[in-house]
Amino acid sequence: MNNIDEQLELLVTANRILAREGVVDAYGHVSIRHPENPSRYILSQSRAPDLVDISDLMEYTLEGDPIDQQGRSMYTERPIHGGIYEARDDVMAIVHNHSPTVIPFSVTGTPLRPMFHLGAIIGPDLPVWDIRDNFQDTNLLVTNMDQGRDLAACLGDRRVSLMRGHGCVIAGQTIREVVMASVYLQVNAGLLLESLRLGEVKYLSPGEIEMMSESQMRLTGQERAWEYWANRAGRGRG
Ligand code: MN
Repeated sequence: MNNIDEQLELLVTANRILAREGVVDAYGHVSIRHPENPSRYILSQSRAPDLVDISDLMEYTLEGDPIDQQGRSMYTERPIHGGIYEARDDVMAIVHNHSPTVIPFSVTGTPLRPMFHLGAIIGPDLPVWDIRDNFQDTNLLVTNMDQGRDLAACLGDRRVSLMRGHGCVIAGQTIREVVMASVYLQVNAGLLLESLRLGEVKYLSPGEIEMMSESQMRLTGQERAWEYWANRAGRGRG
C-alpha cells in the first residue's frame, strides 16, 4: 500500500474505533490533512462513523469546498476542521465529538483536567469555546469559517478544546494520537465525574502531565493501543 492508501485505511479504522469506544454515535467526525497536499483535508461524507468506508472519504479545500462531491451529502460542521488546519501547520488529524461524559464540563465551569495517568494526553488546561460569545444565538453548530476560525483561536496551540453545550475538538499530529486523546478524554471525564462525588480531587501535577503525555506519544504504546482498539472495532489489527 502507498502512503495515501494507508492513511485512508487508518482513517476508516479511526471512524470505527471512535464508534466502538462510544466517543461518537450517529454524529461526530474525524479527518486527516491530505498527506500530499497540506491545503486539503480528507473527511467522510455525512454518515455515522461506524458505517464509514473508504468510498465515503472525500477531499476538501481548507474552506470546506469538496473537490469531487459526486452528489454526496456533507457534514455541516466542516469548518471545525478547516479552521484548525488553517491555523495550525502542525495539525495532521482532528476529531470532533459530542461525548456525553465530557459535555457536563463545558457548561458548569468545573474544569476538566487530567486526574489519572492516561488522561495526561489531554493536556494541562482545556479551554471552553462558547459560540455565543461572538455569534450570539445560533443552533450551536459550527457552520461557517468565521466560527471555525474562532474555535481554532480558542484552541490555540493545545490538543483539546471543549465546546459549550455541544462537545469537543481534539487536534494532533497523527491519527493515532487524536484517537487516543479522544478515548482518554472521555475516560478521564468519567473518572473525574465519579471522583468529584466522593470528595476533593488530587489532579496530576504539571510535571506529571508532561512526563506521562511524553510516554503516551511513544509509537510502541500507541501501536499497542491501536491494535487493541482496531481489533475490538472489527478492523483486524488495524
Ligand atoms: Mn457537533
